[in-house]
Amino acid sequence: MAKDFFHRDIELFIDHRFDWGRYLHLRGVEANVADEVETYKTVLRTTGEVCEDIEAGALDHWHEEVRLENGRVVVPPHIAAGYEKLRGAGLLCLTLGSEYGGYGLPVLVNCAYLEMVARADPSLMTIIGLQAGVAQDIERYGSEELRQRYLPRFVSGELQGCMDLTEPQAGSDLGGIVTRATEEHGRFFLDGEKIFITNGGADVHLVLARDGASFDQSRGTTNGLNLMLCPVTLPDGRRNGVRVARVERKMGIHGSPTCVIELEHAEAFLLGTRGQGFRAMLDLMNNARLGVGAQAIGVAEAAYRAAREYAAQRVQFGTPIVQQPLVKSMLTLMAINLQAARALLYRTCALIDMTEAIRRYLHSERSARDPGRIALQEELEHNTQLIRFFTPLCKYYATEISNHVTRQGIQVHGGVGYMAESPAGHYHSDSIITTIYEGTSEIQAGFALKEMGKGALFTTLERTRTDLQSLSDAQDDLVRLVCDGINKLTGTVGALMGDPQYALLNAKRVCEMVIDVVVSAELLFQAEGGNGKRELAASFIHRHMPAVEVNARRIESGDATRIKRYDRILGL
Ligand SMILES: Cc1cc2nc3c(=O)[nH]c(=O)nc-3n(C[C@H](O)[C@H](O)[C@H](O)COP(=O)(O)OP(=O)(O)OC[C@H]3O[C@@H](n4cnc5c(N)ncnc54)[C@H](O)[C@@H]3O)c2cc1C
Repeated sequence: MAKDFFHRDIELFIDHRFDWGRYLHLRGVEANVADEVETYKTVLRTTGEVCEDIEAGALDHWHEEVRLENGRVVVPPHIAAGYEKLRGAGLLCLTLGSEYGGYGLPVLVNCAYLEMVARADPSLMTIIGLQAGVAQDIERYGSEELRQRYLPRFVSGELQGCMDLTEPQAGSDLGGIVTRATEEHGRFFLDGEKIFITNGGADVHLVLARDGASFDQSRGTTNGLNLMLCPVTLPDGRRNGVRVARVERKMGIHGSPTCVIELEHAEAFLLGTRGQGFRAMLDLMNNARLGVGAQAIGVAEAAYRAAREYAAQRVQFGTPIVQQPLVKSMLTLMAINLQAARALLYRTCALIDMTEAIRRYLHSERSARDPGRIALQEELEHNTQLIRFFTPLCKYYATEISNHVTRQGIQVHGGVGYMAESPAGHYHSDSIITTIYEGTSEIQAGFALKEMGKGALFTTLERTRTDLQSLSDAQDDLVRLVCDGINKLTGTVGALMGDPQYALLNAKRVCEMVIDVVVSAELLFQAEGGNGKRELAASFIHRHMPAVEVNARRIESGDATRIKRYDRILGL
C-alpha cells in the first residue's frame, strides 16, 4: 500500500500558498511556471517513493548503534543503504547551485524533502540534512579553489560534512569556545576538542575556532571566532590531525553518529573573514534550525499516522478505540498541531525563497530601470527582519509540537506503546533531541524575544492584520477572533518590554501568542480553497485565541517579583 509520503498537505502548500510566477520572474528563470512547479513536484514524488523504501528498511533496525572501529565511524547498514538510495536517485544537496552540479531548488521544496526523509528515518535525516547547509556555507564563504575542490563531491555524495561548534564548556553559549586556530606562515592549524558532533566521521568538518591572534581579548565572546574548513584528508593526500575519539550512545536517533572530535595541529582553511566566523556559522545554523523543524514534523507525522492506524484497529469495549471521544480528541489534537507547525515552517521557507529572489533581482541588471525598486528594497528589509524572527519560532514550535504529538502517540497505543520494540516509543525518543540540538527551545525563545524588541513583532502583527483583510467574507467570524487576539497581544507587549528579566521569564509564553495568531491566519488562507481545511482552521482558532487571552492576562497580572518567588521555592 502506498504510504503517501508526498501527501496532500504538502502538495497544497506547493500548489496554492506560494506565488511561483513572481518568484521565478524575480529569479530570472524563463521556464513556464506550471512546468517548473511540476518539476519540483516530480522531485518530491520521487523523494516520497525512495522514502517509502527507506522506511521499510529502517523501522526494524531502530536500536542499531553506530560503532567506532579503528578510528572509523561505522553507521548501521540501514543508514548506509538509505543514504545510497537517496544518492542513487540524485537526491542530495538539493539547494546547491547548478554550477556545482546541484539543482538550486527552493528552500520550500528542500523543507518538504527533509520532512519526508525524517518521517522515513529520523537518524538518516540528521546526516542528509547537514549536507546542503555545509555545502552552502562553503559556496558562500569559501574561495573559488575550495568550492571547486569540494562542492561537486558534496552533490555527488562522495563527500559528507559536519559542523563542529560544541565543546564541553561551550554549549548554548558559543562564546565559551576555546578551540584555537593558530596562523603559521599564512596557514591555519586547529587544536582543541569538540563534543556531540553529528556525523563526526565525515570527510569535511566546518569548525568554529578562536583565532590565536586575538585569543585572550576575545575569550568569552562570539567575536574573534574563525569558521574553518578542516578536511580529514589534506589536498596532497596526507591524513590531517582530526580524529574521532568516541561515539556516544543515546536515548534515540541511534543510527546518527554523535562524536567527540579531537583536533591536533589539524590544518584548516579559512571561510569568510577572519574573526567573523560566528556570523558565517549563523547562516549554517539558521539553515539547520529549519531543517530540525522539518525533521520534527516528519517524526510527528510518522507518529500520528501510526497512532491513527492503531486506533482504528484496536478494539476495546466492543468498538475500535478511535470511536472513544477521548481517543478521538487526542488524535484530532495531534493532527491539528502537526498541521499548525507545518503551516508556520512552510510559510517561513516560502518567505525565505521570495526574499532571496528579491535580493538577487535587486543585485541584477534586470532591476536597474524598474520603478518598483524602492518598494522591493523595503520588502526585502521587512522580510529579512521577519525571517530572523520566524526562524527561531519555527524551530521552537515544530520541535515542541513534535515532542507532544509523539508522546500522545504512545498514549494512543496504551501498553503496547511502552514496549521496547514499539515504533510509537521510538518516535518519541527520536523527537526529544529536536528541542535540544541546534539551540534549545529556551535559546530559540530568547532569540525570538530579542527580535521582537527590535520591532519584528509589530511588523509581523501589521502584516498579519493586512493579510487577514484580503480573506473572503465567509471567514469573517474567524477573522474577527484572530484580530481580537492580535489586539490582546499588542496590548500586552508594552508591559513586557520595559523589564528585560520579566520579558525573559515570559519568552516562551509570548512566542506562543505570536505563533497562535500567525498560524491562525495561515490556516485561514489554506481554508480559502474549500478543501476541508476550514474545520481545521476553526478548531485551531477556537482553541488558541482563548489561550492568547489567558496568556495576556497572565503576563499583565505579574511582574519580575515572580522571579523572587521562584528563588524562594527553589531555595536559591
Ligand atoms: C545528539 C546530539 C547531536 C548534536 N549535534 C551537534 C553538532 O552536529 N554540532 C554541534 O556543534 N553541536 C551538536 N550538538 C550539541 C547541541 O547543539 C547542544 O547540546 C545544545 O546546543 C545545548 O547545549 P548544552 O548541551 O551544552 O546545554 P546547556 O547550554 O548547558 O543548557 C542546559 C539547559 O539550560 C538552558 N539554558 C542555557 N542557557 C540558557 C539561557 N541563556 N536562557 C535560558 N535557558 C538556558 C538550556 O535551554 C537547557 O535547558 C548535539 C547534541 C546532541 C545531544
